[in-house]
Amino acid sequence: MQRLRSIFDRIGRKGYGAYKDLQGSYDLEGFTLFIDKVQRDPFAPPSLIRVRTSQNRFDSMLFSNPVRRVAFEDFLTRSVEKVLRRAVRGSRGSGGSGRIEIQRTSQVVLPRTSMVVTEGYVEARMAAGLPARGRTVDARAAKAMLLEELPRVVREALTPAGVDETRAREHVETVEDANHLREQLPGLGLVAFLADGAVLPRESGASDRPLREGAVAFESPEEFRTTVELPNRGSISGMGLPEGVTLVAGGGFHGKSTLLSALAWGVYDHAPGDGREYVVARADSVKVRAEDGRSVAGVDISGMIGELPGGRSTMNFSTPNASGSTSQAANIAEALEIGTSLLLVDEDTSATNFMVRDERMRKLVNKEPISPFIDLVRPLYDSLNISTIVVAGGVGDYLDVADRVILMEDYETYDATERAREVRESFPVPGAAHTGEARPPRGRRVRASSIDLRRGKRETARSKGSSTIELGRERVDLSYLEQLAEAGQTEAIARAIGEFASEGESQGVEEVVRRTLGSVERDGLDSLGNFRGHPGELSLPRPQEMAAAINRIRSLEASTE
Ligand code: ADP
Ligand code: MG
Repeated sequence: MQRLRSIFDRIGRKGYGAYKDLQGSYDLEGFTLFIDKVQRDPFAPPSLIRVRTSQNRFDSMLFSNPVRRVAFEDFLTRSVEKVLRRAVRGSRGSGGSGRIEIQRTSQVVLPRTSMVVTEGYVEARMAAGLPARGRTVDARAAKAMLLEELPRVVREALTPAGVDETRAREHVETVEDANHLREQLPGLGLVAFLADGAVLPRESGASDRPLREGAVAFESPEEFRTTVELPNRGSISGMGLPEGVTLVAGGGFHGKSTLLSALAWGVYDHAPGDGREYVVARADSVKVRAEDGRSVAGVDISGMIGELPGGRSTMNFSTPNASGSTSQAANIAEALEIGTSLLLVDEDTSATNFMVRDERMRKLVNKEPISPFIDLVRPLYDSLNISTIVVAGGVGDYLDVADRVILMEDYETYDATERAREVRESFPVPGAAHTGEARPPRGRRVRASSIDLRRGKRETARSKGSSTIELGRERVDLSYLEQLAEAGQTEAIARAIGEFASEGESQGVEEVVRRTLGSVERDGLDSLGNFRGHPGELSLPRPQEMAAAINRIRSLEASTE
């Protein structure tokens, strides 16, 4: 404390560069402050700091296993977020002066670099804008930040005295239960589970928070009601969706896409209060959609699309500009390549000609390379054990291939499987055989050397917001990855791609992804950090999103072996 004060006295009113003297660690009351990296000027990205409590006095049940620990770290990150808002005065002076921030959380619970809980301490990683007047050190404001506001954050957010342990316990137990529920799915022959009482709709198209007013709580139809035992809250009942092909039908605006989207997010655990705490899907589920304009590098889409105009083969398909249907085919082939047991498909975001082709078109058009998804959805399950949940309100053809039909009316869910059978028998679709053949796509190797990280004199591999990655001069667009939850995941993926690119080797996409995530599992997320001490703001991505990001690099060269 004394040392810190004397540095402040020395550097007051000097040029901003004098802040560099702060770099180092300081024993303050009850915690250690690490100033890992000092920004160059008040307008540069903020300085990186950490606070580590001298003891961990929290009840050890809060972090007694890996799932609980991640949940508790998530809880503490949120708790710091809240205290920062009330304890830190915020902007004062030029540029980012006076702000202290911690990694922003989304609705989901993920391993993040923002917080570390061990037996011996709790450590929070933050970013601080060291205050300036113009371009000189504002020592008085800096003292207030680091010697008054920060200790308050530690007291109120990182020690049992300031934290509501009942809520912490609830947080941890909810996450553990949800995780358990998801892990039970395969054993129960289910691909997804939606708890009775869940709130699926969101506040708005731009907010992932729950709809507060007028939300109709989810209730399972009797026919699908399943009860599962959870470690903390006991038994829970809701709709269990079995493996196979499930069709979700219903009129427009009756909640179909909302349900499917809740399932897509069901690969993650949610923070209590989200409404979807107990809505889970297989962890490897992939929502696939059309994405015209994306680039595709050497993907085997021949299982879905035959020979293209000019006799172009689709076993090793590349294009800088995919159509709606070829992009959706590539998305599916790539999902199969990285591994998935559940595809989620919404008609709203699908290419019509990829989904179905009716009898008239089958008669009129001879040269149609596309095997529509409707012909593949059964074989995908029968031969590859990949289930599908498909939302279709417009085309009744899917009644022919569905094992069960969920009908949505006024946001309520009904089992319409029997009704659907009657309709099918009364109105058969002539000539509809739907006999496609599903096979796994051939493996690919991607050339690391095709990813060029150079940008002027530097090499860059970093995220810009949650849906863009900058690799050298290229910007990779991830805005159609509907299961990418937060910017920290994007940043982690960017860094992993950066590492792969500088190794310069050719490898299978799956290999690259598994290896990176394997080492993260072994050495922790911090190992993706490019800085000793403070690793930056990272969250754990899924293999599926990481592969998807690699697959969207426009310069990528890849080919099937
Ligand atoms: P569909 O896909 O069937 O056309 P959506 O899922 O897009 O319908 O939902 C239409 C609207 O209804 C959206 O604004 C959504 O937020 C809202 N909504 C969905 N489910 C519910 C619900 N359970 N309670 C209240 N509003 C809902
Ligand atoms: Mg819809």
